[in-house]
Amino acid sequence: MIKPIVVQEISKSYGAIEAVRDLSFEVEQGELFGLIGADGAGKTTLMRILITLLLADKGKAYIQGMDVVDDYKAIRKIIGYMPGRFSLYHDLSVEENLNFFASIFNTTVKENYHLIKDIYSHIEPFKTRPAGKLSGGMKQKLALSCALIHKPDILVLDEPTTGVDAVSRREFWDMLKKLKTMGVTILVSTPYMDEAGQCDRVALIQSGSILAIETPEAITQLFGRRLFAVRAANMFTLITSIEHLPGLKFTLAGQFINVYDEADRYNSETLLSLITAAGNTGVSITEVQPTIEDCFIKLMTKKPAA
Ligand code: ATP
Repeated sequence: MIKPIVVQEISKSYGAIEAVRDLSFEVEQGELFGLIGADGAGKTTLMRILITLLLADKGKAYIQGMDVVDDYKAIRKIIGYMPGRFSLYHDLSVEENLNFFASIFNTTVKENYHLIKDIYSHIEPFKTRPAGKLSGGMKQKLALSCALIHKPDILVLDEPTTGVDAVSRREFWDMLKKLKTMGVTILVSTPYMDEAGQCDRVALIQSGSILAIETPEAITQLFGRRLFAVRAANMFTLITSIEHLPGLKFTLAGQFINVYDEADRYNSETLLSLITAAGNTGVSITEVQPTIEDCFIKLMTKKPAA
């Protein structure tokens, strides 16, 4: 069966900056696939290559079996794209934006209303308002409606929830999951690690290279060590002593620090003894499950494969 998205050893540089390097992966039919990485990781560059707006220096990519270079016209008809930055016409009303995007794809809002109904119903009460005067979350819902109005097989969404409040972010992801059940294949990028857990599979990207491609559950298993949330009466002393204890690594986690041992030598009791012996008081230690963010930080410390 033809895969909706196939990426084979794609590379792209801007002068001396290697934005993406030898990326390869495939997305399955009806999959919600996440590209997870910090600003500048190369997510937008890869997406722009896939939606036929940018040429790769090297490698091949296919959308529903069609080459992104040779078959760009056919690909544009079956892809819906939502760029990271607000892409709509600020002076046109909500309704006018939607009608415009429908008309350039030779369709009408009426014809495909069923596809956008759940999303658009949130903003329909404001349909006469200029798009530029919508809230962040409403703008993203309108942009998603516009990306969907020509009934694309594949949706490519570049950081759709950046700058959107927590409630709207949750609503947005619920909508993506619903679209998935309708058979739409979705490639979505995000810098928010907590959103990675909503995807079927994620690719963790750093400096243009893929560190891992797995289901969110499998990514957390990659951590492969016990992880402990640790507090002490004096957090500064705690951090300083952890830095001096061989093999121990930590990341900041709110009021705690998350600590693991590279060789996984300690349980809660032995770690408590070690940290107390290092001069800390009021120490509390709880073993916790690693999150995708913990795994990402750990993988980032390894150099990506050349
Ligand atoms: P962001 O969310 O910040 O857009 P990203 O993961 O989408 O991050 P890209 O936008 O693809 O990453 O950028 C990858 C690298 O390429 C960055 O170092 C960026 O500065 C650089 N870059 C992107 N576009 C250009 C360009 N047109 N000219 C020069 N450098 C660029």
